[in-house]
Amino acid sequence: MTSFLYRCTDCGRDYPRESVRYLCPECGKAYKPGIPLVGVLEAVFDYAAIHAGFDRLEPDWQLFCAVEHEFHPPLPVGNTPLAKVARLGTELGLPHLWVKNDGLNPSGSLKDRASFLVAAEALRIGEKRIVAASTGNAASALAAVCASAGLEALIFVPEKAPKAKLVQMVLAGARVVPVKGTYDDAFRLSLEYTAQRGGLNRNTAYHPLTLEGKKTAGLEIWAQLGFQVPDAIFVSVGDGVILGGVHKAFVDLQRAGLIQRLPRLIGVQAGASDAIHRYVQTGIYSDAPDPSTKADSISVVCPSNAHGARKAILESKGLTLAVSDDEILQAQKRLLSRTGIFTEPAGAAALAGLVKLQAGPDRLNVGDRVVLLATGHGLKDVEAPLSRVSIPAAIQPVLEAVEL
Ligand SMILES: *Cc1c(COP(=O)(O)O)cnc(C)c1O
Ligand SMILES: [Zn+2]
Repeated sequence: MTSFLYRCTDCGRDYPRESVRYLCPECGKAYKPGIPLVGVLEAVFDYAAIHAGFDRLEPDWQLFCAVEHEFHPPLPVGNTPLAKVARLGTELGLPHLWVKNDGLNPSGSLKDRASFLVAAEALRIGEKRIVAASTGNAASALAAVCASAGLEALIFVPEKAPKAKLVQMVLAGARVVPVKGTYDDAFRLSLEYTAQRGGLNRNTAYHPLTLEGKKTAGLEIWAQLGFQVPDAIFVSVGDGVILGGVHKAFVDLQRAGLIQRLPRLIGVQAGASDAIHRYVQTGIYSDAPDPSTKADSISVVCPSNAHGARKAILESKGLTLAVSDDEILQAQKRLLSRTGIFTEPAGAAALAGLVKLQAGPDRLNVGDRVVLLATGHGLKDVEAPLSRVSIPAAIQPVLEAVEL
């Protein structure tokens, strides 16, 4: 039996699991689309039970999971590889550098983790339809997980979402509604839909289990490092839920007395989509009015989890960085050409941030153990780097035509 309650991250009120669905009933009254979410709920577990029940030799991850195993969709998600990347690490003055390749999830991004857990919740409570707004990956993840579980996915996406992601959703059998507008417009529309027509809303941070789903990436990092806490984890940031989820993993481990300290979280945003970065720097929130970037997965005017992400950065003594599209595309090429790992521009933002940090006064120590999260697969958007790739011209199929 899973044992947890929901706690409001703003007012601290506790709610039994069955009594709430999305935001804190009190604080959530102040929320309206167009501002960062308020009254986001977090799952609070029975940490004494985790402490007593967790065995490193035979880890029972169900102890940290908010939905019982019997409701989990059949599509395996997560457990992605953590690769030590010595060539890249040496170049950056960090011999202990790893990349967690979450592009190897079934739909090609870390979003599968959140969609998986919300789908499990839908199966548990008997909801047949899941509704989401997405820049693309959350939707293709939801479409895939729903296909495996026999659930209906209804998806609002900005019409400019990359083709590969749209193809994924449609082929998986989801009902796809492209919206003339931004991701933020799609977000608002999907909230109106579930409020008036029903279904379970999977919007990021709005459904508290999106954060819990993304948490599993952090738990895996800990286990894959031999149950060691890394010094820093670099995460690309759009709505700030991956960042918040990875932080929650280590918070849960600390509350359960399984670790003594938190890793520093380094959040990286695209220069034009930098609302959380500026919020961390100044303490004052304001939108990123024109968040256009080639890293489409982290393009957002008003990040839904801005408050939670800032809190995670401060609590972990981390920091945020903003990088240009040029730095992102350079990092994408560098990662693939040094490690063999192909990640989409949003995933490469994490490396762009590391490169930037290493070039400045706040560079990391040579002994630090550092993890980069590669959040999505490079094949999801080959258009983005295309202008920087020159494909050689074809030759006659004779040996003399091949240069020495
Ligand atoms: C969604 C996404 C992100 C950002 O996650 P947030 O929770 O929105 O901050 C980063 N990279 C990829 C590939 C994504 O799909
Ligand atoms: Zn509250």
